[in-house]
Amino acid sequence: MKRREWMQSIAAGAMAANLQGAGAQGAAVEAEIYRLKLKHTWTTTMSSSEYRDEIQMHFTSGGITAHGEGAPIVRYKEDAAEGKKAIESVAGYLKSADPMQYTKIMAEVNRRIQGQYAAKSAIDIALHDWIGKKLGVPLYKLFGVDPKDALVTDFSIGIDTPEMTKQKVREAEPFPVLKVKVGLDKDEATMEAIRSVTKKPLRVDANEGFKSKEEAIRKIRWLEGQGVELIEQPLPAAQLEEQRWVHKQVHLPIFADEACLHPSDIPKLADAYDGVVVKLDKSGGIQQVLEMIHTARAYGLKVMIGCMVSASVTITAAAHLSPLCDYADLDGNLLIANDPYRGVRVDRGRLLLPNSPGLGLVKV
Ligand code: MG
Repeated sequence: MKRREWMQSIAAGAMAANLQGAGAQGAAVEAEIYRLKLKHTWTTTMSSSEYRDEIQMHFTSGGITAHGEGAPIVRYKEDAAEGKKAIESVAGYLKSADPMQYTKIMAEVNRRIQGQYAAKSAIDIALHDWIGKKLGVPLYKLFGVDPKDALVTDFSIGIDTPEMTKQKVREAEPFPVLKVKVGLDKDEATMEAIRSVTKKPLRVDANEGFKSKEEAIRKIRWLEGQGVELIEQPLPAAQLEEQRWVHKQVHLPIFADEACLHPSDIPKLADAYDGVVVKLDKSGGIQQVLEMIHTARAYGLKVMIGCMVSASVTITAAAHLSPLCDYADLDGNLLIANDPYRGVRVDRGRLLLPNSPGLGLVKV
């Protein structure tokens, strides 16, 4: 055998050995684009729509099928078609890998895929679901938390006409805390409509809608008198200096959402905000969110776990993490009419975690 042939035979042997790794037998990776139908037309400062396209993922290995989901975020230039392609680009690798080595797998996935954090989140969630099922434990046990400490979620009221806003508030009657999108020119009318039908505490999300630090100060001071308990992202994410200045002038706790995507973003935010909003789709999955929670704690920041409009796969994964956080904004699955799964349930806002292994999802 010549040297080159010998090298080739070694390489072929290594490849075969790799394919026969722990998960190789009957392993499958499937990614599909799924259209979430919204119960109400959803309006924020960024968009208005009646549906959202996202990714549902299924991962089978060793006779266990697990589920993942990713809702690509337009703000970060992601879409479902590119996310699906990203998952398919690593399908061969995932099938050959041992899912128990999820940390190693996600490091490799992060190396192979640029961006596409929602797709990465789908993979990461599916791996966690698989491990929970393999070990026969619900996800919250893997995180070492008490399911009784799962948080109360707020319920979001989308921007609408005063009449529709009042109707949405009435429909949200079981929820003790509401979240309101502000940052458009009808904030006063929205708040007036809400306050005409409820006295519940409110969280507001400006989604970067206040365009100057002067406007932010004025609006935040006004909100402080409206029974608001916190505000998300008043100024554009890039205006960190302005945000630092605003933070010193007001009392209302301010949370970074669009300014806080990854663990490395957190140190520079610590003296400009009171807390951060973590989301699986934004950061790339459970592992990344855990890292963000721990980093935020190290800097003395509060943590809200949030979500995109999603089905029950992502929302249930986030609910299992909620005992590690201070606030939950996990209503994304309640806003859609065609959830393919049932997972976390909600009782007067309280998140009730499933006790079955993994995420604990049941196909509807
Ligand atoms: Mg937000």
